[in-house]
Amino acid sequence: MPGYDMTRESFVPQPKKASKNMQFLKNSNRSAVLCALALKKASNRTELASYLNLTRMAISNIVNELRDHAIILEVSSAENESESEHGPNGRPPKQLTLADWSITVICINIRRYSVSCMLMDINGNTRPPVTRCLPAHADNAFLMDTIIQLIEEVQQAFPQVPIIGIGVSSIGPLDIYQKHLLNPPDFRNIRNVDIGAPLEARFHLPVYLDNDMNCSALAELYFGAGISCRDLVFLGFSAGVGAGVIMNEKILHGFGGFAGEVGHISINPIGPPCPCGQNGCIELYTRGENILANAGVVSFEELNALLEQKNPPRFVLNSIKQYIDAMHTLMVAVANSYDPNIMILGDIDIAFINRFLPDLEEYMNSHMLNHGYKHIKVIPSALAEAASLYGAGSIVLQRVFEGELPLPIPAGG
Ligand SMILES: [Zn+2]
Repeated sequence: MPGYDMTRESFVPQPKKASKNMQFLKNSNRSAVLCALALKKASNRTELASYLNLTRMAISNIVNELRDHAIILEVSSAENESESEHGPNGRPPKQLTLADWSITVICINIRRYSVSCMLMDINGNTRPPVTRCLPAHADNAFLMDTIIQLIEEVQQAFPQVPIIGIGVSSIGPLDIYQKHLLNPPDFRNIRNVDIGAPLEARFHLPVYLDNDMNCSALAELYFGAGISCRDLVFLGFSAGVGAGVIMNEKILHGFGGFAGEVGHISINPIGPPCPCGQNGCIELYTRGENILANAGVVSFEELNALLEQKNPPRFVLNSIKQYIDAMHTLMVAVANSYDPNIMILGDIDIAFINRFLPDLEEYMNSHMLNHGYKHIKVIPSALAEAASLYGAGSIVLQRVFEGELPLPIPAGG
């Protein structure tokens, strides 16, 4: 009977659906509380209620539960006892922090010549990383064996720490959705590697993969130079040049996960050929090894020493002018495209880039289209060469903050 089928839906017991929705809402609010505390947006129940627009009772239920599971710590504040800091009962509000090592992730960083692994917790505490070189003969099996050995090593060193997921930061290109490393240029004998499935099968943990620029950007947002921001761009200048873009505290991936390849904006159609198929890409003038080659030196120490001289060689000054011109174009294009709050420069010698920061910041802010309406601060990476390793763990923590990854407490709790 058609009528029977049409009305069957109405006989589905409503409490079941309602309770499922309630659980979803509860998990979502719980994750939001963790995120607010981790990113220092709030530090007590009153601030949490205000920041998340939830009732004090809802916040108290969540905080009490997470405190009972030793994820949140609550301490009386002996300081800041001004009137405005007092809670509704006249006493200063108790300060909330996240317990060290209550939520822990494994970080893997795949670089062109090495792989690193370390443990990191929700507060950004870390255990010392372990690193293995990738020799010239390294192939897909060698890479995966190395990653598995490194994870086993850090787990065995700290067996009492419960792990909730594995984050992998890698040179690209990647298929971040299938968790595959595709075909990075000049990457030993390694190409088309399934990173996710073997690690998930071996360790029974969720695995997330993202490129090193995106990971570095998220790490700077959570633990580095961008901790008070919502919108930032991380520009990296190592073997390749690219951007990790954070918008509204989330990585901008694009449809295929390839957003942010700003190093392949061409600034000279008849310039030197780029491996991407174009000519004169910005990457060719701004990545570390090209800066050195164009100046005729082998290290940034050597280049910095030449630039310290009273009269640096003419060819060095010419190469630096070409570099600065390319950086101006790149940074104005990035500012116009993404409208960040701050721009972070990383994967480059700090002493070298520091000497140009004031000029780069001034030029970008006076040449971007909407100049005069805002000021974008340009700062060096706070996490330096560790940014992408911290970032590997950060992409797992983001899943916790978004409620995608369950917390280490009972589901119905
Ligand atoms: Zn290119």
